[in-house]
Amino acid sequence: MDRIRMTTPLVEMDGDEMTRILWKHIKDELLEPFVELKTEYYDLGLPYREATKDQVTVDAALATKKYGVAVKCATITPNRARVEEYGLSEMWKSPNGTIRAILDGTVFRAPIIVKGVEPYVKNWKKPITIARHAYGDVYKSVELVAEGPGKAELIFRGEDGTEKNVTVHEFGGAGILQAMHNTDASVASFARACFNYALDTKQDLWFGAKDTISKKYDHRFKDLFEEIYEQEYRARFEEAGITYFYSLIDDIVARVIRSEGGFIWACKNYDGDVMSDMVATAFGSLSMMTSVLLSPEGYYEYEAAHGTVQRHYYAYLKGQETSTNPIATIFAWTGALRKRGELDGIPELMRFADLLEKASIDTVESGVMTKDLALLSTLENKKTVNYKEFMAEIRKNLEEALASC
Ligand code: NAP
Ligand code: MG
Repeated sequence: MDRIRMTTPLVEMDGDEMTRILWKHIKDELLEPFVELKTEYYDLGLPYREATKDQVTVDAALATKKYGVAVKCATITPNRARVEEYGLSEMWKSPNGTIRAILDGTVFRAPIIVKGVEPYVKNWKKPITIARHAYGDVYKSVELVAEGPGKAELIFRGEDGTEKNVTVHEFGGAGILQAMHNTDASVASFARACFNYALDTKQDLWFGAKDTISKKYDHRFKDLFEEIYEQEYRARFEEAGITYFYSLIDDIVARVIRSEGGFIWACKNYDGDVMSDMVATAFGSLSMMTSVLLSPEGYYEYEAAHGTVQRHYYAYLKGQETSTNPIATIFAWTGALRKRGELDGIPELMRFADLLEKASIDTVESGVMTKDLALLSTLENKKTVNYKEFMAEIRKNLEEALASC
């Protein structure tokens, strides 16, 4: 069989530890035999970030702007222990943070659902994708402790000389204060990323905030979403048969729990932090969560939501057998290849991505799975395998699927 050809390179960002091992094995066993992979390779593994003084991360992000689609392996975000372990000259910033700052994107996280690993919420049948606004609010707030009685004020001094001033509180005793902000530009870019992703994946978009209480702050979010929707997206949503829906955040939470899934839930920064962990846990497993960064200009970066699985890597280094789940990393590749196929008009590449995803899910549903899933799965005849055996089984299913169509 001829391998599928690509026309535009995919930006490939390699990473660290166990996921770096999986990365190579996925390429060798599940991709290269079927696709003439065309990638522009960036090694974001910590040793090379150190060697380039983290320039490689910046270069990888700029390449994503050039080509439009990237796939990224999990990477170490250095802390003090890592500085020692890798002899780093500096505690390099989180690569994801650096890339996000350059692409200005929104991160969408969605679970991969398989039979046998049932969501804790029994009526959830389809994935719920969380879109978290990644700028401002309490994450960029300033705080202050008032030691005793006094008056707190919030002042804005415009460059044009105008001034606005409100009293926050007249303290009768000690207390605490916080001021936070967001910008129209950031909220608008978040809204557009959400609308674009909804169109892209043909799913409804839900957004919740607390505009009844926060009549200026949260109301601004609501208004900007509404304005952008009406002016730029309503017609396209109607054509695609999807809807945009705003409600109060508490109402949205109740509806999410009662829903059967299958939509995108746009969250303000803090809500997204809390709710993405809630949704991920309720769907079953972190190892089955995908993540895609979409920039307002339409650049895509696909990755798994989990980290480098450090504990498994140390076991691997000792020669022990590891049963690390490669599915989310495989889906990062399939997401990127499908998008490349869509942009370049290569239907075989899109179909290959679909079949590889299906082969991965079929493998688990047939009872062959890694340990993390075996611990959760309710299937009766399940077999726990190591990552190599698991990928060999996926390959077998993939080859059968490719042969039969
Ligand atoms: P982690 O890599 O997500 O793993 C935490 C635990 O979750 C693992 O020990 C394992 O549990 C389980 N797990 C996660 N993914 C799995 C998989 N694919 N298959 C099987 N089990 C899986 O988080 P971490 O160990 O706290 O972080 C390790 C490194 O990853 C850190 O240096 C952190 O900076 C980095 N990180 C990177 C990203 C990213 O690049 N996007 C995201 C998060 C963290 P058991 O040990 O119980 O088997
Ligand atoms: Mg969190």
